[in-house]
Amino acid sequence: MADTTGGSVFQRMGLTPVINAGGTNTKHSGSRMRPEVIEAIEESAGVFLNIDELLIRAGEMISQAIGVEAAFVTSGAAGGLVLQSAAVLTGTDVARIQSLPIADWFPNELIIQRQHRFHYDHAYLMTGAQFVEVGKGRHCYPEEVEAAITPNTAGIIHLVSPFTGSGDIPLPVLAEIAHRHDLPVICDAASMLPPRENLTRYLDEGADIVSFSGGKGMRGPQSTGILIGRADLIEAARLNAAPNQAIGRPMKVSKEEIVGLVAAIESFVSEDQDAETKRFRRQCEMVVDQITEIPGIRAQVEHDDKDHPIPHAVIYFERDWRGPDGDEIHRRLMARSPRVYISPLGFMGEIYMDPINLQEGEIEIVAEAIRDELLKASSGG
Ligand SMILES: *Cc1c(COP(=O)(O)O)cnc(C)c1O
Repeated sequence: MADTTGGSVFQRMGLTPVINAGGTNTKHSGSRMRPEVIEAIEESAGVFLNIDELLIRAGEMISQAIGVEAAFVTSGAAGGLVLQSAAVLTGTDVARIQSLPIADWFPNELIIQRQHRFHYDHAYLMTGAQFVEVGKGRHCYPEEVEAAITPNTAGIIHLVSPFTGSGDIPLPVLAEIAHRHDLPVICDAASMLPPRENLTRYLDEGADIVSFSGGKGMRGPQSTGILIGRADLIEAARLNAAPNQAIGRPMKVSKEEIVGLVAAIESFVSEDQDAETKRFRRQCEMVVDQITEIPGIRAQVEHDDKDHPIPHAVIYFERDWRGPDGDEIHRRLMARSPRVYISPLGFMGEIYMDPINLQEGEIEIVAEAIRDELLKASSGG
């Protein structure tokens, strides 16, 4: 039987853990650290060393493991966005690094497609950078970006995330425009891992620096992330980061987290992706199989390039569904014992079961809980 209680530490605090079948979101504790990560954290605790040396060496090891020019450890992908913004504003200019978040020089503007405005984009503005928004509604055309470029432009933002990207400019096209004007493309792909090929995909498509979460699909420490890409931009990011007394100082990463992340990435890149995908798919099928016959419910396993980079069980409420909506089903699952967390974030009211955080024995509990709540709800319960 799976230990879903988290041992005694949360009990002592009077808190009730959840079985996380909703994916790696930060509000529900992110992801499950790999055993190698916990080992590295334990080994490094209690040992002192120079953090600059550690960060530089960790960056080398990460760039080698992934096969990219350079890398840097950040405080989550969001911390990476602050450093991307800082890097394109300051380069390695010490006076400018000291000045942020007062960026009273030009260029200090970042171009962003309107549909790439998103919940994390404060991070880009924390440096004092200004946005120049382009496009109308959910569409943006290359000419609009081209027309927005001025001598004040410091860089162009590109977001890669599930459920964005239908009307936006493809990254290779955006990068071609940017590079023709000698501008960097700074890319947020925080949640796009796995699949592992995405680690290098956005650099190959022309991005100059890419931010990924370390605490989502790679299953490193929850508070970590990486920047990868052009060595000069990575160096500029590093100079803006802790332990330097600069804009990134409040976003430090501890030595335990740094070695934990290195271990996570080395393990992540060497893991058998096909076996992992098959395991995820089997877990999703267990959920789907339990509920396909419930009236008004349509359930299927979805796995695609964009919105579901790992398999998900997606549950749609059809027109003949007589029960409450996905939000209420989510609340009822959270009210059970053990509590089951699934994601109620579907655009059409559908709900998602994401298997990435489940451990041995938990999928059975999740599948039964979902079946139970949907059955009760379908019969007016
Ligand atoms: C999760 C996410 C972030 C933040 O990542 P952290 O590692 O939690 O800081 C930023 N951007 C996007 C698109 C994300 O999905």
